[in-house]
Amino acid sequence: TTAALPRVVGSALRVPLVTGELVEYANLDHAASAPCLEQVRDAVDELLPWYASVHRGAGFASQVSTRVYEQARAAVRRFLGARSTDAVVFTRNATDALNLLARSLPRHTAVVLFDTEHHAALLPWRGPHVRRLRTPSSPAAAVPELDRALREAPVGPRLVVVTGASNVTGELWPVAELARVARRHGARIALDAAQLAPHRPVDVRALGVDYAVLSGHKLYAPFGSGALVGRGDWLQAAEPYLVGGGATSRVTDHGDRLGVAWAAVPERHEAGTPNVVGVHALAVACDVLGRHWEQTAAHERALLARLREGLRTVPGVHELALFEGDRDRVGVVSFTVGGQDAGYLAAALSAEHGIGVRDGAFCAHVAVHRLTGDRRALRASLGLGTTEEHVDRLVAALRGLVTEGSRWSYEQRDGRWAP
Ligand code: PMP
Repeated sequence: TTAALPRVVGSALRVPLVTGELVEYANLDHAASAPCLEQVRDAVDELLPWYASVHRGAGFASQVSTRVYEQARAAVRRFLGARSTDAVVFTRNATDALNLLARSLPRHTAVVLFDTEHHAALLPWRGPHVRRLRTPSSPAAAVPELDRALREAPVGPRLVVVTGASNVTGELWPVAELARVARRHGARIALDAAQLAPHRPVDVRALGVDYAVLSGHKLYAPFGSGALVGRGDWLQAAEPYLVGGGATSRVTDHGDRLGVAWAAVPERHEAGTPNVVGVHALAVACDVLGRHWEQTAAHERALLARLREGLRTVPGVHELALFEGDRDRVGVVSFTVGGQDAGYLAAALSAEHGIGVRDGAFCAHVAVHRLTGDRRALRASLGLGTTEEHVDRLVAALRGLVTEGSRWSYEQRDGRWAP
């Protein structure tokens, strides 16, 4: 552990307001995509002259790229505390990783999950044995709910899917307890760590989970890389996720048909030329975050407390929560503001104050609509790019918009509000 907080690029970005004035951008949308770490940018910059197609090239640059690519698997494995026997399959993002897992399940796998998941974790599971449980009012109550569902689940392979931290409320799920229940019923458990891993250490072995998925762009790397990490056997028994070069070990011409022997995991599910640069960025981000948890957590804890206290002083603000009581959470806060339209408020925060937040239902429609009574919400999410000034600016801007209104009039164009 080193003392300084990792730095992100773009901390001095200036954006235009509706007045034409330029102000420092307050990016309060880390939960959608986090800004790139400086160390990630530098590592990518260093690799750019060298990247080449991995595995099959004999040239020096291909050897460098292959080494970088395979070292990235080791970095992701280390970051997640995965078993040495676990497969690390690189994907485009967490959505891709969850879809790969869904396509790799043995036939008739019973899948059990709670209904407030992000769509990426909610939607990929198909078939008659998918059981969606209503999210209970406390994390503790989720444990017996799962126990009951698994007791009723059909005999055969079973998978539980759970998120580490909600992308709507930031609240943490009792992953280790749910994993214990799953194991007791012979079920495997997959952790959607997309939103947890940028904020807290995730240890697959300590949590007792069988699979975990990540998205690079939420982990302070740019777009285009993610990972599925976990037990190799189902992945090895499954048809390749995509077919093409790289996923095969041998293709032979039998006249009327082709004989295809598929490669072993992980290459089996990584057809096509891999994203060496993106995967390197993800790996460097994992290494940097893994060395700075104390500072990262302290930074976020302080800013989150400041944000939540600030929001409580704004008339009409209602913070969303899945669970009763004030629970441990990562730096993600969603809220509604009296009768005000979230899309209008988000537009005004951007146009008049240079603040980036998200509005809508955050790819978790079931959760947001249940918590808001079918309304859209605003979400402010924090991370390494956040400063006290950003938080204070948001709180002051919201208070102004709520108590005094805007001096600009807004109208909807193509579904977005604009002054
Ligand atoms: N799970 C959670 C909890 C998320 O917040 C997100 C991204 N919003 C995803 C999965 C999907 O990530 P991606 O869009 O990068 O595939």
